[in-house]
Amino acid sequence: MAVVEVADKIDTIYALATPSGRSAIAVIRVTGTSIPKKLLEKLSLQKNSRGCFVRKIDLGDYSDKCLVLNFPAPESYTGEHLIEIHCHGNPVIIADVFTLLDGYGVEEASPGDFSKRAYLNGKVSLDEAESLMLGIQAQNKNDLISLEKFRSGDLGQKIFNISNSLESLLVALESQLDFSDEDGVSDLERNEIAKNIEQILHDLKRLLKNYRPIRDLEARQRAVIIGPPNVGKSSLFNRLLKEDIAIVSNTPGTTRDVVRKTIVMEGIELEVNDTAGIRNGETLVEQEGIEKSYKALDGAEISIWVSDQESNFKNKPKTDLLVMNKIDLFEGRTIPKGWIPLSAKTGEGMNVLVEELIKKLNVEESVFYTSERVYGNIEKTVKTLSASSNEKDFYEINAQNARDALILLKEIYGDFDNEKILDQIFQKFCIGK
Ligand code: GDP
Repeated sequence: MAVVEVADKIDTIYALATPSGRSAIAVIRVTGTSIPKKLLEKLSLQKNSRGCFVRKIDLGDYSDKCLVLNFPAPESYTGEHLIEIHCHGNPVIIADVFTLLDGYGVEEASPGDFSKRAYLNGKVSLDEAESLMLGIQAQNKNDLISLEKFRSGDLGQKIFNISNSLESLLVALESQLDFSDEDGVSDLERNEIAKNIEQILHDLKRLLKNYRPIRDLEARQRAVIIGPPNVGKSSLFNRLLKEDIAIVSNTPGTTRDVVRKTIVMEGIELEVNDTAGIRNGETLVEQEGIEKSYKALDGAEISIWVSDQESNFKNKPKTDLLVMNKIDLFEGRTIPKGWIPLSAKTGEGMNVLVEELIKKLNVEESVFYTSERVYGNIEKTVKTLSASSNEKDFYEINAQNARDALILLKEIYGDFDNEKILDQIFQKFCIGK
């Protein structure tokens, strides 16, 4: 599959495969063509014994009881000998395991190193590796649904079938190159080839229509809560988050900065921002906070103005939603038209707000995603194959176009020998993948 020249000796590398910070377990992956013998001895592992072992790893002044998974080559993700050390998720323990590995000459991996090796060893194609990464970057259920055809290999199979048709076309074209037009190549043959080209173009164009290149999967949609001080913005923020992370206080002006937290609503990931109350700030810090509040509105998908009374606020910015909070204290007062009545204290009206938020969120349905690179190559293939050929050089020009188009399609799987391009692709991956 891969045709890139691999350096003779690939060093052993390691990386944390789980997020940094504290967790029950942290997974450190180690891979190499030849994992240092001394390290295997330290972990009491036999080079070829595939399995899962409990090991008390001595980290100097203390030890950690770990689960060690041993995947001898070639049956591993990278195709090399791969070890997973499942230690306890404490940053100090993780750092000490790293130090231990450094001591055996194992080097820290760069982003995408594990997948790059998997690709170089023919374990995954380039588009498969990309689809794995995009699956990790997906922000919501819809992203994952849209990525399904790419991640499951369905798109790859379609492109593979089109490559096969293109290859047959090229064979037909090249066989005609041995004859000149004068030799009496029939119009029938020529029409047949033109029809094949049309069919391939039709299939490729259908892919372009049904798929969309992913530009920035990690860009989240954002909702900003804004309004005067003490109206219950932080309380509403906490209600949305269902946890107390923002400061709730009855002293006006407590939220001086923008507090951000991401929530998942019906499978959609949304970053919610709680901002400082807008009024003429008394201190310089408060003024700064208020400026930040207005700034937070820039580029936000949804803005929510919160108030607790029916007053005309002088500097009220235009927002998508208006929330009238503290209705538990309203006792018969009417709610102005266009406002969502709500009580952050009791939770009343929250369902209406959440419904409105979901309505406003940009959720594209029935779109299939693929990587920008894959989409770009399909586009280029269509352009190349559509290039006109005059009647006289019909076979020569179409043969050349088909050759160029085939190169572009095969590049999708990673069938090329440009290590620089390869590095650019894998650099976008996360460390440990
Ligand atoms: P912020 O300054 O706009 O962020 O307002 P806070 O969330 O800090 O709330 C200010 C005060 O109003 C606090 O004492 C809250 O407990 C209270 N509060 C917030 N929401 C409600 C509500 O729906 N009903 C009632 N009765 N009090 C609320």
